[in-house]
Amino acid sequence: MSEQRIDAALREATDTRDVNIAAGALAAVADAFRGSFGDSPAVVVADGNTFEVAGKEVQRRLEEAGCTTIEPYVFPAEPPLYAEYSNIEELRDSLREHEAIPVAVGSGTLNAIVKRSSHECERPYMCVGTAASMDGYTAFGASIEKVGLKQTLSCPAPRVVVADLEVLERAPEDMMASGYADLLGKVTSGADWLVADALEVEKIDPMGWSLVQDHLRGWTNSPEALRAGDQKATEHLIEGLIMSGLGMQSYESSRTASGAEHQFSHLWEMEGLGKEADPPLSHGFKVGVGTVAIAALYERILERDLADLDVAALRDSWPTREEMERSVRAQHTSPELEEGAVEQTLAKHVSADELAERLERLREVWPGLREKVREQLMPAERIREMLRAAGCPTTPVEIGLGWDDFRDTYARARTIRKRYTVLDLAFETGNLGTCVDELFVPEGFWGRVATPQAG
Ligand SMILES: [Zn+2]
Repeated sequence: MSEQRIDAALREATDTRDVNIAAGALAAVADAFRGSFGDSPAVVVADGNTFEVAGKEVQRRLEEAGCTTIEPYVFPAEPPLYAEYSNIEELRDSLREHEAIPVAVGSGTLNAIVKRSSHECERPYMCVGTAASMDGYTAFGASIEKVGLKQTLSCPAPRVVVADLEVLERAPEDMMASGYADLLGKVTSGADWLVADALEVEKIDPMGWSLVQDHLRGWTNSPEALRAGDQKATEHLIEGLIMSGLGMQSYESSRTASGAEHQFSHLWEMEGLGKEADPPLSHGFKVGVGTVAIAALYERILERDLADLDVAALRDSWPTREEMERSVRAQHTSPELEEGAVEQTLAKHVSADELAERLERLREVWPGLREKVREQLMPAERIREMLRAAGCPTTPVEIGLGWDDFRDTYARARTIRKRYTVLDLAFETGNLGTCVDELFVPEGFWGRVATPQAG
């Protein structure tokens, strides 16, 4: 069943031709390599940990099958590999000394580094995943820190992906939990796309939507089994993550898999939250807390009757571009982040008349949109339970963020990406501030969570 889904998805993908998910898939790694790269030489790229976990075996299998290989390129195990540009330059320079096809053996960071380095040498590459920890394996682009700023550098996805379930199961528990949170975030990102579609900001692409959303419930409905090491649950997770990546490939944008919950995560990441922790706070764990936060915001929004908006009043109080810029600058303290946020916010800022037009449309479509969004979402409390069952943090305190900073994230996250999400819907309808207030009063969603900590 999963094979059929993947095959159908591969027909829509631009870069990835072959995905092999199975228990024992490493045994077929040489066939997979040959199937796409023929007699080209191979170079295994790993870090000290992933080389032990799977790199050695990949190297041995390639050699035994008679593939030409060169000395593996192994980054040190310690300190943990970080996705910064210097690592890319280092690997790229080494790759330029030969013609071998890189075989990345690792997870998020390693894959991102190999993806971009291979691209800079104009070479395709193959990926052997070692953890079901994020959806980036099959996504285009690599999230890399360059001159102090985390950015998505463009580069094609791997030509071939191999994911051996037995290897994935041996990965640290937190990595699997992170992947689960990254996948569950598609619940809120899907809702955001429904909103953007209804307001004619960004139309839903049926293929990009269906690759990520059609089986999302099935991929995520057994977090307890996943945590207990059930192989079927692991297979569902990696299938969901790989399909999400293929969805981004087919639509050529992360819209298919990333909404406001990811903006929470990106903001925290850019501010260095958990970067010094050991291991560093994962992408998925930030997305997970963001997903709960956004699901809770949706609950406040969905309670309102937006068919009832006072459009004239909202138009009259709508900020000009200059006012908006001032407000964004006042919300950020890091200079790079501030510049980026101004650019992104102004890119989606509409005039007062355009706003009025959009809000009129909203009034018309709200009853139908409200139904669709309700169907897409799950209660925030349910999302929290599922994340907890998978072993994920679900509160800001657990990821080292103070309650005030967390609360401010609702307004600030809106500013860092031009993508239209529920944060924009809430802001443009004049509801963002009041919704957030409602979440943090003692009987509100976050108020109830925070009270025990506050004593
Ligand atoms: Zn993600």
